[in-house]
Amino acid sequence: MAIEQTLIIVKPDGLVKSLTGNILSRLSEAKLIIVGAKAVRVSRELASTHYEHLIDKPFFQELIDYIMGKLHGGNRVVAFVYQGENAIQRIRDIVGHTDPEKANPVSIRGAYGRITTSGVFENVVHASSSPEDAEKEIKLWFQPSELVEDIYPVKETVVKEMKTLVWA
Ligand code: UDP
Ligand code: MG
Repeated sequence: MAIEQTLIIVKPDGLVKSLTGNILSRLSEAKLIIVGAKAVRVSRELASTHYEHLIDKPFFQELIDYIMGKLHGGNRVVAFVYQGENAIQRIRDIVGHTDPEKANPVSIRGAYGRITTSGVFENVVHASSSPEDAEKEIKLWFQPSELVEDIYPVKETVVKEMKTLVWA
């Protein structure tokens, strides 16, 4: 069985419903290790890149608003990278089907998800669905220095005149 990584995001509805602890408890059943964790303010660019495979769907703009927190009054999500044997499928099994009404009622999405009146699935969590998606998503959401394992090749680079914030 291959060691895999997978990206988990507690979406804005999960945060508004105070489900983070509950979700982490459920995910811990998979006996994986957390190799990265952070709260993120989701920019439109980040949201659009994350969901670029859905750009032609009628619900795309609302999906972007959803992950940016515009439907829940707070622009933040919490992101995790889990690692372990068969991590992607084991996490997806606990997370459940994309459509909360088709999801197993004891899965996270089956228990806590809803469908909005406009038809978007507010399904509480994101979980990567293939090793290729996981790599793309983890590299999009995390820098190498934010992970406690070197899971993908890295290279050194010198960044000149980069504007950044430091503590005042
Ligand atoms: N989504 C939706 N309606 C659909 C398909 C997807 O609202 O018919 C939303 C839903 O929030 C889902 C996200 O778009 O989690 C990404 O879709 P994807 O097909 O990648 O599903 P996932 O991998 O999240 O199960
Ligand atoms: Mg997906």
